[in-house]
Amino acid sequence: MSKRREMAIKRRRRFILTVVLVFAVIAGIIMSVVSCGSKGKNKEFNVSAKAESTASFNESKTESLTESTLKTLNGLDAEYGNLMLVNGSNPLPDNYDSEIRSSLVEIDKDLRNNDYVTKIHKTVYPYITAMVKAAQNDGVELKVWSPFRSYADQEALFKKQVARTGGDEKLAATVVARPGTSEHNTGICADFNMADDAFENTPMYTWMCENAENYGFILRYPKSKQDKTGVIYESWHWRFVGINNAKAINKSGLCLEEYLEQNNIEQEIDINNF
Ligand SMILES: [Zn+2]
Repeated sequence: MSKRREMAIKRRRRFILTVVLVFAVIAGIIMSVVSCGSKGKNKEFNVSAKAESTASFNESKTESLTESTLKTLNGLDAEYGNLMLVNGSNPLPDNYDSEIRSSLVEIDKDLRNNDYVTKIHKTVYPYITAMVKAAQNDGVELKVWSPFRSYADQEALFKKQVARTGGDEKLAATVVARPGTSEHNTGICADFNMADDAFENTPMYTWMCENAENYGFILRYPKSKQDKTGVIYESWHWRFVGINNAKAINKSGLCLEEYLEQNNIEQEIDINNF
């Protein structure tokens, strides 16, 4: 073979090698771009899938409320409710305290952390029991602290608060309701774990915010509603209104007073009606 021909073959080989290398590099770049793209695509897909599932959840939630197809939840009657309004301007009738005694039942010992006040209205018993058990099953130490309080209990608490405020009954009433105007006299609400602002920073409060409506309870005195409720923000005080009612009230962003007013719901307090 002539030296010239040998050189030509070598040059050709070098050229082919270079071309192969260049192709390999280009192919490598293309592969990595495609794989990044598909990763991004997956991410996008996951995000949109999540958004879609949230949207359909909200949709089904709305549908269930408007069409009243949600009849039971957590084994409880979702349609049953009680929108009785008791506050400073809507006191309970005089006979309520004596009449309600026969409708109270004892909350199970392992579901409460108070042996002094232990009772709840019998209609609310299955709801509060299911709720506290569900929280405890989720590893959250939710306990009923103060459910039903008698007129006399409330009177004693109110007098104590008046003494603390130097005799200012009006100021005292924003913290402790006057006897006959406290929801605790109704037996359809409860304080949980403690009657203290510290409750807001507990896992129990977080759990309640996420789940209480599924058992018919609402945060009765929200932070921004003191002018409507007449009561300071109480993270620990939850009121039974019924499951579908609780969902509708939470969705509306209104407190109970506003919700009843906007929907023209007039609730007569009738001891025999629940
Ligand atoms: Zn309370």
